[in-house]
Amino acid sequence: MPVLGRDVTVPLVTGGEVTYAALDYAASAPALQRVWDDVAAYAPYYGSVHRGAGYLSQLSTDLFENSRTTVAEFLDCRAGDQVVFTRSTTDSLNLLAAALPADCQVFVFETEHHASLLPWRDARVTYLNAPRTPAEAVGTLERALADRTASAQDVHGPALVCVTGASNVTGELWPVKELAAAAHAHGARIVLDAAQLAPHHPVSVQELDVDWVAFSGHKLYAPFGSGVLAGRSDWLQEAEPYLAGGGASRKVARRTDGGVDVDWHTTAARHEAGSPNVIGVYSIASACKALTEAGFDTLVAREQRLVATVRAGLAEVEQVKVLSLFGDDAPRVGVISFVVEGWNSSHFAAALSAEYGIGVRDGLFCAHPLVRTLLGSDSQDPGECGAPEAEPGEPSLNAIRVSFGAGTPDEHVERFVRAVK
Ligand code: PMP
Repeated sequence: MPVLGRDVTVPLVTGGEVTYAALDYAASAPALQRVWDDVAAYAPYYGSVHRGAGYLSQLSTDLFENSRTTVAEFLDCRAGDQVVFTRSTTDSLNLLAAALPADCQVFVFETEHHASLLPWRDARVTYLNAPRTPAEAVGTLERALADRTASAQDVHGPALVCVTGASNVTGELWPVKELAAAAHAHGARIVLDAAQLAPHHPVSVQELDVDWVAFSGHKLYAPFGSGVLAGRSDWLQEAEPYLAGGGASRKVARRTDGGVDVDWHTTAARHEAGSPNVIGVYSIASACKALTEAGFDTLVAREQRLVATVRAGLAEVEQVKVLSLFGDDAPRVGVISFVVEGWNSSHFAAALSAEYGIGVRDGLFCAHPLVRTLLGSDSQDPGECGAPEAEPGEPSLNAIRVSFGAGTPDEHVERFVRAVK
């Protein structure tokens, strides 16, 4: 599957130059060629969305609204679900947090990415301890939900579970379907953070039976600044608009007492005030189509081969410890974090770049509680190059993450393994 960003030549400190190996897909993946082509073909015809009578405005409005249908199909949404376009996963989850019904109780594992962990702070939040197996995750959630329904005052209150589909640290898959069943059995709803799942796996809202899904375009090979929140419309439509402004309102009128009355839309537009990012949205739809046409069976098989290459290579290096919550056999996507005994992870990542032209990430990956649990340390600020070197035998202070996906050439992961060795 062709992707852009493949053939950038970078200088090496050791002399010469090499083709850059982008192995940081989990942060932002390169654009698919198809996405780039579609965006380039459309860009000269850019026009305002929902705000013009002219031909190009109509064209842009059609592309924008058709993109909603494409995303709904990509996610296998239920009839009646809404697809709201946002800036990112972070934005989507903050939107949902702003739309929670009064007295909603939120359940979230401490292992979540900060985008899933933090938006709920204005609600009543129950932080769940890190589980060490998928079954323990389900059991922990079930117990927490059962405690809630056992306490009379909360029986009828709304509740929401927020869970990631694939960890941005370990790449491990979470038992989303089982967690959704547990949530629903206790009258709670569930939102899936699919930022790391959707680029690597098919996501079916109906099959997983989740109430909402959030993901980001820039991790799904569509780096033009848009994201998605898709799912049940009721909470979204009963909530105040996420942003107040044009496009979200159907009718605005002065009142006789001098104030202003607003009649807000009850469609996705309610939460999409302002001129939307049609290029970002169109690029997401383009990526959804490209991934579907390539076929997830093919994509997953290829990626799993690369996962096996990296894991086997790392296993041969005695000083390397791969970070894992659920153990070696847990199914995972192409996201692998590790530490190297005696090495500062930031220096290690910098050396991969300077000496081998390989781009990975170092730090705590916006999942501080999880990485600290996995490292067993009170770690420093993420990505801080001045962090002290860990002494041999002492726990590392942060970690290195390699991640890849559609279009990653074999040579890039092979070079990575060679470089680590
Ligand atoms: N959730 C997960 C699991 C992620 O990996 C990320 C990005 N690293 C986010 C949420 C946030 O995504 P964004 O920065 O695009 O809002």
